Amino acid sequence: MEVLDFKDIDQQTLLAKLEGRNTLDFREYNEVVQEILDEVNKKGDQALLSYTEKFDGVKLTSGDLLVKPEEFERAYEKVSEDFIKALRVAIENIRAYHSRQRQNSWFISEQQGIFLGQKITSIARVGIYVPGGTAAYPSSVLMNAIPALVAGVKRIAMVTPPLKDGSVNPNVLVAAKELGIEEIYKVGGAQAIGALAFGTDSIPKVNKIVGPGNIYVATAKRLVYGYVDIDMIAGPSEILVIADESANPRYVAADLLSQAEHDTLSSAICITTSRFLAEQIKTELIRQTKELERKEIVEASLKQFGQIIVVETLEEATTLANEIAPEHLELCVAQPFELVQAIENAGSIFLGHFAPESLGDYIAGPNHVLPTSGTAKFYSPLSVDDFIKKSSLLYYDRSALEKVKNEVMILAQVEGLTAHKNAVKVRFEEDEE
Ligand code: NAD
Repeated sequence: MEVLDFKDIDQQTLLAKLEGRNTLDFREYNEVVQEILDEVNKKGDQALLSYTEKFDGVKLTSGDLLVKPEEFERAYEKVSEDFIKALRVAIENIRAYHSRQRQNSWFISEQQGIFLGQKITSIARVGIYVPGGTAAYPSSVLMNAIPALVAGVKRIAMVTPPLKDGSVNPNVLVAAKELGIEEIYKVGGAQAIGALAFGTDSIPKVNKIVGPGNIYVATAKRLVYGYVDIDMIAGPSEILVIADESANPRYVAADLLSQAEHDTLSSAICITTSRFLAEQIKTELIRQTKELERKEIVEASLKQFGQIIVVETLEEATTLANEIAPEHLELCVAQPFELVQAIENAGSIFLGHFAPESLGDYIAGPNHVLPTSGTAKFYSPLSVDDFIKKSSLLYYDRSALEKVKNEVMILAQVEGLTAHKNAVKVRFEEDEE
C-alpha cells in the first residue's frame, strides 16, 4: 500500500483508478440470465427445480421449495445461544433506528373548500434475496427485512439457494424466524429472481426485490426491473478513513482491513494530516494482515485499490472524501462532530475513535446496505422509504373549483386536450342553462 502526498497525486487519476473497481460487465451475463428468466416465466416451478439441480446440485420437488416448520426447529438446535442473544440485540437496535424513519400521511386545508395531502402506503409484497454460497449472512437478513417490516410490508418472501444437503443455512433461518419471517423458499440465483418477479405455482409474485447476490442475481434484478421494483445494485465494498494526529494507527489499520477482506475489488483508503501516522498505519497493515484468515483477498485488494494519502489540512481531506463519495467514511479525528459538517457525500459516517465500521455492519442500528462506487452522491442507505409509496390526495368543493376553472380550461386548451377542458366545463354547465 502506497503512502502518497496529496500534492503529488492527480485527483482525476485517483478517481479513475477507483472507478476501475466497477469492472463488472453485466452485458456479458445478460443473455444467459435472460434465458433463465424466460424459462422460469414459461415453465414456473419446473424450471426452478431443474436449475436448482443444475447449479446447486440439489434435486428437490415443488413440495420441498418452501421451508417447513420443523426446519426452523432444527435450525435453532444447531445455532449457539450466544448467536441468538447477539441477534436479538441487533434486531432491537436496528428496529429502533428504522422506526425513526417512518413517515406519516398528511392533510392540509389552507384555503376554504380545499384539502390537499399525501397518503403513505407500504408496498404489499417484498422479496428478499439472501445469498447462499460459501458464506451466509444473517446480518443481511436483518438489514433488508427490518426496514420493510417497520414500513408495514404485509408479506415478505425470502429466497436463498439450498445447501448441498437440501437444507438452508441455520443462521439465516434463525435470523428470519426471529423477525417472524417464515415464508422462505429454497431457490437461488437468477431463477429465484425470476420466480419473485413473475410468480410460479409455489412462489407468488412480489412488488419489489431487495438483497445482495452474485453477478447472476444482480443481472437478473436489472433485467426484471420494471416488472417489479428493485433496490440499488451494490458494487464492491469500500472504506475511507480520515485520520488526524489523534488517531490510533492500530485501529485505523484494522478498520481498513475490515473492508479489504470483503473482495479483491474492495477499496480501503486513508487520508491523514500526519505523515508519521501514515507510516505507522502502513506498518500496522502489514503486521495485522499476516494474522487474517482472508489474507490473500486483503493483499490483492490493498494492492489494487488501497491508498494512504497525506494532506496538509483536514479541509483538503474532506474535499477529496466528498469527491470519492465512499460507502463507509470514518472520521478518526479529535473533533469529528465539527468535521462531519463538511461531509456531503458518504453512505454511512462513523464519528470518533470508537465507532469502527463493523459496529455499523451488525449492531448499532443504521442500515449496512449502502451506496457504493461513488453513488453516495445521489443514493441513500436502504431505509423504510424504500418500502413505502406515496399517493397524492386532492379535495375541492364546487366553489373552490369554480375559482380556478378558467385557468384549468386555458391550460388544457393550450395542450389541445379538450376532454380535460370539458371535465371542468360540464360541472358548471347547469349555471349557464
Ligand atoms: P448467491 O446466492 O448470490 O449465488 C448462488 C447462485 O448463483 C446459485 O444458486 C446459482 O443459481 C447461481 N449460479 C452460480 N453459477 C452459475 C452459473 N454458471 N450460471 C447461472 N447461475 C449460476 O451466492 P454467492 O455466489 O456466494 O454470492 C454471494 C454474493 O453476495 C457475493 O458476491 C457477496 O460479496 C455478496 N454479498 C454482498 C453483501 C452486501 O451487503 N453487499 C452481503 C452478502 C453477500
